[in-house]
Amino acid sequence: YTQAKALVYSKYGEPKDVLSLHKHSISAPHGTQVNLRLLTAPMNPADVNQIQGVYPSKPPFQSTLGTTVPSAVGGNEGAFEVLSTGAGVKNLTKGDWVIMKKTGQGTWRTHAQLDESQLIRIENKDNLTPLQIGTVSVNPVTAYRMIRDFCNWDWMRAGEEWLIQNGANSGVGRAAIQFGREWGIKTLNVVRQRGTPEETEALKAELKELGATAVVTEEEMLQGNFRDYVHEVTRQGREPIRLALNCVGGKNATALAKTLAPDSHMVTYGAMSKQPVALPSGLLIFKNLSFDGFWVSKWGDKNPELKENTIKDVLELTRSGKFHDIPVDNVEWSWDSEGPALAESVQGTLGGYRSGKGVFTF
Ligand code: NDP
Repeated sequence: YTQAKALVYSKYGEPKDVLSLHKHSISAPHGTQVNLRLLTAPMNPADVNQIQGVYPSKPPFQSTLGTTVPSAVGGNEGAFEVLSTGAGVKNLTKGDWVIMKKTGQGTWRTHAQLDESQLIRIENKDNLTPLQIGTVSVNPVTAYRMIRDFCNWDWMRAGEEWLIQNGANSGVGRAAIQFGREWGIKTLNVVRQRGTPEETEALKAELKELGATAVVTEEEMLQGNFRDYVHEVTRQGREPIRLALNCVGGKNATALAKTLAPDSHMVTYGAMSKQPVALPSGLLIFKNLSFDGFWVSKWGDKNPELKENTIKDVLELTRSGKFHDIPVDNVEWSWDSEGPALAESVQGTLGGYRSGKGVFTF
């Protein structure tokens, strides 16, 4: 038996109110079962929405871990190490690093027992860290697919077409900046103004360091002369903005859409401001813009092979130093960690203006 602890919830609500630490034991793996130890698991915005009960995919409440009331384990992605394997396991051995094939399996736990079929083995973990592997499957995959799948880039004109995005300092945003740099797509990045001008400039500089072509604040974008600014950076429109990535909504999203060249796409993948996306009719009628949505969970379930290949590609870029780590706020999860403290770190996820994404490391 292995002793394990998991952050579970048995009703929906705020993480600090509904998450608790549940201790249980895991038996030796049988058949195709695999016993795992947590390395790193991030706290993503969707994880909190799921616990609040406002996310469309809801892991079922179950009694499998022996909780007094049926419950679900929080978290949707993470890197785990294989501790032991059942006799029927074919492709995994002790010491391998794995991630979960699908979201909704519950990753905030010190140990887990899962079926081999639910896991993706990291074929080559050389020069990769648990953080890089534990955060690869949601944010980078989302950015990668949105850039590749919604727009017919003219690859012959590398460096002469743009994408615009809000939430540019998010995990997804930082990934989009770096893919843009790798693939010859210029990026116009929108972030929220920070507390002081110095902090705002530091954030802009940080994103430029990652490869951002231009960074503006939401406040600057919503001013009257943003149009002129866009005209100028895109060389009077000779370098069209072909794609907008929106995770904010509201006025911010409307402003992104207005910068797009005719026949372009705006992909909405998040709603951080909780404001609806409002679109001037003219953009639909005269500019023939298309408005799409993207959800990586659904996409991954439909395209499992492509998802694995996308992950491989991102990890290859990471290994070769072309894809950098997100800033993190590391939460050490030791055997003695208390439930309320762990739940409190989850609670902070949607706070805004954070210096880094919360990640559990065990
Ligand atoms: P991070 O936790 O890395 O970053 C959060 C981002 O949201 C920051 O840029 C933050 O900006 C911004 N933000 C927070 N609150 C607000 C607000 N009230 N108004 C405007 N912006 C705000 O996020 P992720 O990269 O993990 O996720 C980013 C978005 O993408 C989320 O909405 C998430 O749900 C979504 N997502 C969607 C996926 C899909 O498949 N559809 C997959 C992955 C993510 P600031 O620093 O200024 O607070």
